[in-house]
Amino acid sequence: MSETDFDAVIIGGGFYGCAIAIYLAKNRGFKRVLLVERESSLLLRASYNNQARVHNGYHYPRSFTTAYRSRLNLPKFVRDWPEAVNQEFTKLYAISRRNSKVTAKQFVRFCTDIGAEIQTADPAMRKLFEPRLIEDVYLVKEYAFNSTLIANKARLELLESGVDLLLDTQVASISKATSGELSIAICDTGGERKVLSSRYIFNCSYSGINQLKGDFPGVKTELKQEITEMALMKMPAPLADLGITVMDGPFFSLMPFPAKGLHTLSHVRYTPHLQWRDEPGISPYEKLSDYPRISQVDRMVRDVSRYLPSLSKAQYVESLFEVKTILMKNESDDGRPILFEKYEDLPRCFSILGGKIDNIYDVLEKLDAEHLD
Ligand SMILES: Cc1cc2nc3c(=O)[nH]c(=O)nc-3n(C[C@H](O)[C@H](O)[C@H](O)COP(=O)(O)OP(=O)(O)OC[C@H]3O[C@@H](n4cnc5c(N)ncnc54)[C@H](O)[C@@H]3O)c2cc1C
Repeated sequence: MSETDFDAVIIGGGFYGCAIAIYLAKNRGFKRVLLVERESSLLLRASYNNQARVHNGYHYPRSFTTAYRSRLNLPKFVRDWPEAVNQEFTKLYAISRRNSKVTAKQFVRFCTDIGAEIQTADPAMRKLFEPRLIEDVYLVKEYAFNSTLIANKARLELLESGVDLLLDTQVASISKATSGELSIAICDTGGERKVLSSRYIFNCSYSGINQLKGDFPGVKTELKQEITEMALMKMPAPLADLGITVMDGPFFSLMPFPAKGLHTLSHVRYTPHLQWRDEPGISPYEKLSDYPRISQVDRMVRDVSRYLPSLSKAQYVESLFEVKTILMKNESDDGRPILFEKYEDLPRCFSILGGKIDNIYDVLEKLDAEHLD
């Protein structure tokens, strides 16, 4: 083999690319694995700029499969990334009296169906909410992850597994080489281009999943891209050790964001800023960098304070803007299945998009079933 040949090249050093690179090296015996990331470090994009919720099913009353799979995957995530999971806060789900797609009674039945723990919250917790707007409040079990600690552990495991890492480097195209291998054109931030060859390619580039040129046909699954804003806030004392989600409609969540010791505030109406149907040639990363990031935090705070008056005392710090990539088919049920694609005309190239962090176990199950020689 020449110096530039690899058994597998993984495109994208987010959580998925890292976890898959480690899996290939440790569990599937791949010897020469290369992980290529366009940013200057690992887990800087969606894997950092998110709500940090380790899902446990509660969030998906309209998608039983997503809820149920989250129930199965959460314990595995806690087992594999224990140092990155924060369990030390109280998590409440509340049901709005108006405009909710689920009633309190339906929510309790749904939690029972998926086997998720739920209790009526005690009076001190219920007092935080405006009773004319909130039907009921429940104490549940849901955790938050620290993406900086995930990145630190991933970096160590990549090193231990002998995975090569190329940062500040973008994959521009994938093509079929005459030898039957795949060739990958890469470009670093200085503009230097290089072509590598590999037996397998794993495209884990999330928002960038459709932007590879050459023989890559684009993903078959229709995707929606959304510029999102989550506000990072310092919570006042009554809310400091809480995570709160109001279901299920035009409401909000506040969640601990362990990587910064703050909370994220997100709102179904004001977190999405701009959306478009994903297409090759429209780079979501460029679209975000050209976007004037005018915060909608004032609107979030105004609306959330109606339900949760003490939130008006929260202190705004900054906003995380990111592109969220969602499967079109799940627009109505809010489900988060994985995208796992192979291509007849580009054998041994896989595209993988997880939808949420714990779905990695659905991806690994799919990979376990693949004959990777
Ligand atoms: C606003 C928001 C809130 C969310 N909340 C949650 C939540 O609470 N819980 C949860 O589980 N999930 C949540 N998610 C989803 C979760 O963030 C994603 O499922 C997960 O981070 C995807 O990981 P990834 O590795 O696929 O993507 P990323 O972390 O984005 O990694 C993809 C990487 O590929 C790199 N890349 C792209 N193109 C190229 C290229 N051509 N060459 C080289 N590198 C490239 C990018 O720079 C990036 O680092 C949220 C997402 C968003 C945006």
